[in-house]
Amino acid sequence: MSLTMNRNRFIYKCTDCGREYNGRDTIYLCPSCSAANTAAEPPSGVLNVLYDYPDVQKRNPDFDCLKKSGFIDLLPIASVKSLPPLRVGSTPLYTVNNIGSEKVDFRLHLKDDSQNPTWSFKDRASALVSAYARENGFETIVAASTGNAGSSLAGICASQGQRAVVIVPEKAPLAKLTQIIMYGATLVPVKGTYDEAFDLSIRASSEFGWYNRNTAYNPLTTEGKKTVSFELYDQLKYSVPDRIFVPVGDGVIISGIYKGFEDLLLLNIIDRMPVIVAVQSEKSDNLVRNIPLKKFTVIPSSTLADSISVDIPRNFLMTRRYMQKYGGEAVTVTDEEILGASSLLSRTTGLFAEPAASAAFAGLLSYRHDNRIREDSDNVVMLTGSGLKDLKAVSGIISMPRSIYPSVDELRSLFP
Ligand SMILES: [Zn+2]
Repeated sequence: MSLTMNRNRFIYKCTDCGREYNGRDTIYLCPSCSAANTAAEPPSGVLNVLYDYPDVQKRNPDFDCLKKSGFIDLLPIASVKSLPPLRVGSTPLYTVNNIGSEKVDFRLHLKDDSQNPTWSFKDRASALVSAYARENGFETIVAASTGNAGSSLAGICASQGQRAVVIVPEKAPLAKLTQIIMYGATLVPVKGTYDEAFDLSIRASSEFGWYNRNTAYNPLTTEGKKTVSFELYDQLKYSVPDRIFVPVGDGVIISGIYKGFEDLLLLNIIDRMPVIVAVQSEKSDNLVRNIPLKKFTVIPSSTLADSISVDIPRNFLMTRRYMQKYGGEAVTVTDEEILGASSLLSRTTGLFAEPAASAAFAGLLSYRHDNRIREDSDNVVMLTGSGLKDLKAVSGIISMPRSIYPSVDELRSLFP
């Protein structure tokens, strides 16, 4: 590492050209690589946050030391006191023995990140972005979002007394838009796509001096999301799971999970990486389909899983690099499989996940169907958001029962 570490002991490193930038400055994409970015391809120049790992190791000889200090030596902020007062992360990991009426012959763990304050995984990124803004004098944070990142930013900012501006495509699900307004953020629906909202928010940042939370564009989004890896390692009693099934849209959550485990690898706390399975909908497979291709091609997304409906994955290049380096796997599932998985998950575990999260479970079911899961292995499914966030998505697979008169006879007729 050539640059001197700043007081927070971190630098930014471009995942494409390898240039390093001082952590003292607020920067987004690598200025050198991003100059030639176009709207038709995933951006180059996404930055990674790196630490002086030998120094971190000296200060924290084991995982428990890191945990006791809230992992502050692995975060790009000065103090954990800058983080929101809400409980972000520390979500439950449930181990289940059955899927429906069938016993599973491997260990299956469900990481329920719908238990975050705004009911999605995105709070992990928003919390870190909000803390950074607090420490660096930004009063307003702007984000473009299909819903979850925006509602997350709005809620986290409400808890910190910060102003949030959220730019969304106007067709985002009503529950997420309602959340944004209830949290007191300024909601800006645009007549256009997520990609257009994304570009507008970047222009707003440079025009008005607002801090930008856009996924991947702000390197702290990946960095905040990595905390789930530390939790998984802890909850699995200091072991690395064999496979982690992750729903993928922009590729930021999956990169965050890689980054968290890679930090632990660089600190010699773990000696192997998990196999991470990128799960996409067949109707929005722009990330996994392009991994082996030389030229990026877009097929317009139409999946009902709005959180992972992405045409240009913002963190494609980093995700591809991680997957190639650490033997990542990919699977696509149909929207019907996603809805089926959502229903099965709800009925048999009591966890009602939004379609994107159910996609990850559908990915696991597909692996299980193909006998690709070793007996005695540890498998984690990332449930990244609550089903209550998008009730419309499941409206087609449920039927509301008709009303009865409040008589026992009528009730009896329902149970012949
Ligand atoms: Zn670069």
